[in-house]
Amino acid sequence: MNAEIIAIGSELLLGQITNTNAQFLSKELAGIGINVYYHTVVGDNSDRLREVIHNAKQRSNLIIFTGGLGPTKDDLTKETIAAAVGRSLIIDNDALLNIEAYFKRRNRVMSKNNCKQALVIEGSHVLANEQGMAPGMAFNEDGIYFLLLPGPPKEMKPMFMTYGLPFLFSKLDKTAQITSRVLNFYGIGESQLETELLDLIEAQSNPTIAPLAKDGEVTIRLTVKHESRSEGLNLLDQLEKRILERVGMFFYGYDDTTLSKEVARILNEQKLTLAAAESITGGLFSSELTINPGTSAIFKGGIICYSNEAKQALLHVPKEIIEEFGAVSGECAKYLAENVKELLNAQVGISFTGVAGPTQIEDKEIGTVYIAISKAGEETCIYPLKLAGTREQIQARSVKYGLYYLLKQFS
Ligand code: ATP
Ligand code: MG
Repeated sequence: MNAEIIAIGSELLLGQITNTNAQFLSKELAGIGINVYYHTVVGDNSDRLREVIHNAKQRSNLIIFTGGLGPTKDDLTKETIAAAVGRSLIIDNDALLNIEAYFKRRNRVMSKNNCKQALVIEGSHVLANEQGMAPGMAFNEDGIYFLLLPGPPKEMKPMFMTYGLPFLFSKLDKTAQITSRVLNFYGIGESQLETELLDLIEAQSNPTIAPLAKDGEVTIRLTVKHESRSEGLNLLDQLEKRILERVGMFFYGYDDTTLSKEVARILNEQKLTLAAAESITGGLFSSELTINPGTSAIFKGGIICYSNEAKQALLHVPKEIIEEFGAVSGECAKYLAENVKELLNAQVGISFTGVAGPTQIEDKEIGTVYIAISKAGEETCIYPLKLAGTREQIQARSVKYGLYYLLKQFS
């Protein structure tokens, strides 16, 4: 199948929102081996949408639309598509019941134009919207699959995952199936990783190897085509083993895990509690860790000690240490990690101090960062770093390195 994704919405053309729907769908389609050849964005305009549909029909046999399924006048996706394929719109009873229930739950009065949302293209397979009102639709016309999804990502994503993906999957050639595995790495750049794996990447056929750099991390997606799942998994295991023999020290987890999820998992497993003293990261580390539910079992809390006064008053870093070595120093980081651990009665303390820029401090270069990790009964480890990037990147990378060192130290 060759797919095209058409995002409908004038806000996209005006630059008010980013087309994250196309990004999400492309990634999912790649995962099941469907080629996406075009992304198209068109405003809320019936004539131009008709033209875009006409073009898509010439070159794609799967066309996915997002947006414009709502109740307002500017929502004209299904009307335009129905006209383009010569079908009519009919009321879908389940969708209507869902809309009525939606208003009842919220104690709101349903207006007439909301009924419009229960209209679906005749003969289509209706996809329920569990997060909103507008149903999605899937149908085949002249050998071309049409899939209509709502614009809001929180409605589009679950609808696609729950109903769209199985629909497409049922239409694919079943003898050849596809399984993917994502390996996540930190502490190694994309080009270094590619260099280490160059011969494997150049010789790839099945499974394929796709490296991707994102937010300072690198992932490798391995995709295998197979007839039996066990055969596919076996091929993935073999390739994974060869990759990890070379770059395993930077590997931290599979698929959609994150560094902070892995840290929470490891600390939980080892029944360790953590406290953080944050200067350069200003609370970002604590925030990243507490994104995950269940963090209270492992995280005692964090202290933001941005100024030298705070480092002395809240974390008892001796004045002489700051005078002699500076606040951006391994010595200061060591005191911060050890003292936050004691103060918050945790088994492990981590600290972050450094220069995020744009100006130097204490004559230390921008990107100079010290992370210290202290564990009861063990000598404190100090990790000096020289990070590149903007202020935000240096802060974000400091957080990730902190998580990465925790993993290295405790897994
Ligand atoms: P609604 O019932 O909310 O009107 P809809 O299906 O008509 O849903 P739109 O009106 O096109 O969808 O878009 C609603 C909102 O969804 C947009 O304001 C935007 O926040 C989000 N959205 C729409 N399209 C995209 C897209 N391609 N990528 C990311 N977000 C989008
Ligand atoms: Mg709308």
